[in-house]
Amino acid sequence: MASGSPTLAECLSQAHAMGLVRVDAHMLLLHSLGRHLHDRAWLLAHDTDTLNVLQLAQWQIALQRRLDGEPVAYITGRKDFFGLTLAVDSRVLDPRPDTETLVEWALAVLPQAPTPTTLRLLDLGTGSGAVALALQYARPDAHVWAVDVSEDALAVARTNAKRLELAVQFIASDWFAQIDVNFDLIVANPPYIAQTDPHLHALRHEPIQALTSGCDGLNAIRHIIQNAQAYLAHSAWLLLEHGHDQAERVKSLLLQAGFIQVQSRTDLAGHARCSGGQKAPQ
Ligand code: GLN
Repeated sequence: MASGSPTLAECLSQAHAMGLVRVDAHMLLLHSLGRHLHDRAWLLAHDTDTLNVLQLAQWQIALQRRLDGEPVAYITGRKDFFGLTLAVDSRVLDPRPDTETLVEWALAVLPQAPTPTTLRLLDLGTGSGAVALALQYARPDAHVWAVDVSEDALAVARTNAKRLELAVQFIASDWFAQIDVNFDLIVANPPYIAQTDPHLHALRHEPIQALTSGCDGLNAIRHIIQNAQAYLAHSAWLLLEHGHDQAERVKSLLLQAGFIQVQSRTDLAGHARCSGGQKAPQ
């Protein structure tokens, strides 16, 4: 890069040379310039503009954080999920587009409005609130509860709910421990990575308790499946996100627990990413 203030084009080629993915570099540069993260067209139209000293300092910090493996969402403090912009930071898992599969499936199994009684939905391990808020946004007629064991995560989720003006009810709870309601639908994106999985290194900036769950990654999923029936109304669904190679094991856990209609849904990459079942009718 030439001495003096670099242009936007020079910043982007610097990022490219350092191995950054193009879309990540665009978002980080927009963030450093204080511009809206969707303004990628603006960025390209202004590629001969130069950065001022403050913008340059912000860019260099953002670049360094990304090179150190931090998710773009933590650096920008924002992530789009199911059409909602969420505030996120290292207290919560970075919401993945794959998890939109869970939301889409959940919306598809719910009876259409208007329902004779208010639908009750539960999101277990809500983190940033992504799934619960997306459900509440899509179904304003439903009463959505969301739990997390982490008070830190709940603080993030509550802030998101307030800013988005969505009336999700948040509860500090270790899975079902503080729950005494029956639901028409339970969803969860629980931790599901095996404790020894080498990919964890790449996820080191995210909260470990949101990622791993025992030797095979299935401790949380087993706990949820074994206990969910008591919190489900008859014919209500339990839908779970899981690892790309866990669908068969999760489906057999669901069958063993007495669920019917046990099936999976694929994510954007075509992996069976969510599995679920329905509580038998009375
Ligand atoms: N989908 C995340 C990943 O593998 C993990 C999320 C989770 O454990 N719930 O990167």
